[in-house]
Amino acid sequence: MKMPDLMQAMVLTEPGKPLVPKAVALPVPTAVQVLVKVIACGVCRTDLHIVDGELKHPKLPLIPGHEIVGMVMKTGTEVTNLKEGELVGIPWLGYTCGKCRFCLKGQENLCEQAAFTGYTLDGGYAEYTVAHHQYCFPLPVQYANSSGAPLLCAGLIGYRAYNMIDDQSEKIGIYGFGAAAHILIQVAVQQGKKIYAFTRKGDLVSQEFAIKLGAVWAGDSLQTPPEKLDAAILFAPVGSLVPKALLDTDKGGIIVCGGIHMSDIPSFPYRLLWEERVIRSVANLTRKDAESFLKLISQVPIQTETQLFHLHQANEALDSLRAGRIRGAAVLTMD
Ligand SMILES: [Zn+2]
Ligand SMILES: [Zn+2]
Repeated sequence: MKMPDLMQAMVLTEPGKPLVPKAVALPVPTAVQVLVKVIACGVCRTDLHIVDGELKHPKLPLIPGHEIVGMVMKTGTEVTNLKEGELVGIPWLGYTCGKCRFCLKGQENLCEQAAFTGYTLDGGYAEYTVAHHQYCFPLPVQYANSSGAPLLCAGLIGYRAYNMIDDQSEKIGIYGFGAAAHILIQVAVQQGKKIYAFTRKGDLVSQEFAIKLGAVWAGDSLQTPPEKLDAAILFAPVGSLVPKALLDTDKGGIIVCGGIHMSDIPSFPYRLLWEERVIRSVANLTRKDAESFLKLISQVPIQTETQLFHLHQANEALDSLRAGRIRGAAVLTMD
């Protein structure tokens, strides 16, 4: 198929400045890459941290975006697992070395040579992108559109955070009810968990949304839940929620921080951590996470709530996310 020479992209030239619409050269896949025509690309909070300069040392200039749904248009000479016309999802983890001490013990999410889509590699705020063939995943057809984009980071990271909690935990608090939470709650409720949703103060819209999706309780993040929680997952990038979540959690409870960036955690009395409570983070994802999550959601259908923006409206989408005006997830479309 004849490809254009140029494509439209939204480009970060300097952190702290809005993205710039540009016509840039169509990327050429290497032997191990595929060229993908982007159908939709989710707008993740991590994109905000990159654009705002809170995550340091991005590739510059950079095309952000790591929740990419697209179609393979061309395959590199060494690619055998994907073919032209195949529908794929491209997540945050873009490359790992396979040789460092973390890769060797199954923690490729911590790889010392890792590359990340839309951060150290160009991403999906563009009409086309290239990706390493081992780091894109065939997508079930029902998700190969804008509704599937949020699954590729919000969904995946939420799922990884959820898997850090032991199976016995029944009462789970979710702090910050946005893109990740609205996907995870559907998985957790299906598995019989009781979800307690915490939102920004007065955000009744998100609280209603959580109840609609099956939360047993929803309230402001400073409110005390009606029962002690077995575990808590923090998606809001607010450090003061860590001691709050400890306070809400029962003996032996685990607090999982799901974000890549968080404001400082204030000091807190040791008694909040005492009784074997645990605080941990999750970082990135592994390919195994992606495979098992995509398998799960091909059996348990997930409805995502998206707010669509055209590619050239990427700055508006980021502003809306920053201001907390997105219900569910923001997604860029390329049509
Ligand atoms: Zn490695
Ligand atoms: Zn993300």
